Amino acid sequence: MKRRDLLLASGATLLLGLKTPAHALAVVAVRVWPAPDYTRVAIEHDTPGLSYKTHLLTAPDRLVVDLEGLTLNPTLRDLVARIQANDPYIAQVRVGQFLPTTVRLVFDLKQTIRPSVFTLPPVAQYQHRLVLDLYPIEEQDPLLAFLKGYEEQQASTPAPTDPPVAARGPAQVHRLVTVALDPGHGGEDPGAIGRRGTREKDVVLRIARLLKKEIDREPGMRAFLTRDGDYFVPLSRRVQKARQVRADLMVSIHADAWVSPKARGSSVYALSDRGATSAAARWMAQKENSADGIGGVRLMGKDSQLAQTLLDMSTTAQIKDSLKLGQAVLGQMKRVNSLHKQQVEQAGFAVLRAPDIPSILVETAFISNPQEEQRLRDHGYQQEMARALASGIKAYFAQNPPLAKSRMM
Ligand SMILES: [Zn+2]
Repeated sequence: MKRRDLLLASGATLLLGLKTPAHALAVVAVRVWPAPDYTRVAIEHDTPGLSYKTHLLTAPDRLVVDLEGLTLNPTLRDLVARIQANDPYIAQVRVGQFLPTTVRLVFDLKQTIRPSVFTLPPVAQYQHRLVLDLYPIEEQDPLLAFLKGYEEQQASTPAPTDPPVAARGPAQVHRLVTVALDPGHGGEDPGAIGRRGTREKDVVLRIARLLKKEIDREPGMRAFLTRDGDYFVPLSRRVQKARQVRADLMVSIHADAWVSPKARGSSVYALSDRGATSAAARWMAQKENSADGIGGVRLMGKDSQLAQTLLDMSTTAQIKDSLKLGQAVLGQMKRVNSLHKQQVEQAGFAVLRAPDIPSILVETAFISNPQEEQRLRDHGYQQEMARALASGIKAYFAQNPPLAKSRMM
């Protein structure tokens, strides 16, 4: 044994002699992400080995979580203050030192829930995490919720008599086209962060909401958001949602980051089924695909099955259409920002995998470039970018009228 190791060994013995708990585990952060889909509570701690037990109680509905090998600290106690009045699932939480080394959390619930509790290893800026996801017993059907929202909107605005979208040529089609808008990241996953602290997840949500307004204003078109709040949606779930609302196309909205603050300009990506078109595109896809690891996903049987099924389906036709859509969008984006690449690039982006929906991923600007970060924060620029994306989408539909599928609603 080397001298250094010997010193370490005797240090450990000394600690044991003092009866310090084997796991001097401390909670370093707590975060709560309430959303209609589910509410997530993340408990971040500094060392592995946090063991937990959960009990679901009824009348009234409560979720009890015992965290073992832990003493209560102010960070964990602060969880009480993190619960928002508008949380769909949690009314309040009580936190207490239940046993000398066990902290008990009691969540008083607003409705019966289905909990999913799992741990995540350290990744990106995070240490170890215990994740408590509180799902409703019956998952919301995105299509039903979407239609309900659409009807309410129609009731409050005079309805167009005849949707003229894609009324071109002999293949005249009069049906609503649905555009799925996918603001990247969210919740535990902030996405890229600019020098001034601008978070990708926030600016892309703002742009997506503005773009939704632009699209909803068009007769015969309506937009659906895969995420309308600050919470994480796994990549395969985004694809699944777009398919559930029978989207005609999907636009995932992001903001780039690069090591050099000089990198600038907008770019558009499509899926590739045979490798990336450049090393940079491959790197970008890897970075965007890492969202699931940072945001935190527990792959359930049916989710991983779905992900595998999607991987197995042919995407050749989808990619062809996605390239057309991407080129139409690039043509409009160059009016509001310089282009990082003139052509649509391709790589294996997980969120673009819907085999039956033309899908593109738009990098609106480089959040790592100080000038572009400044623009991304600016409402006027967000609005311009939203208008440019809407024009690109309309230009695509004008050239590629949606088929009269039996999906008319
Ligand atoms: Zn992103």
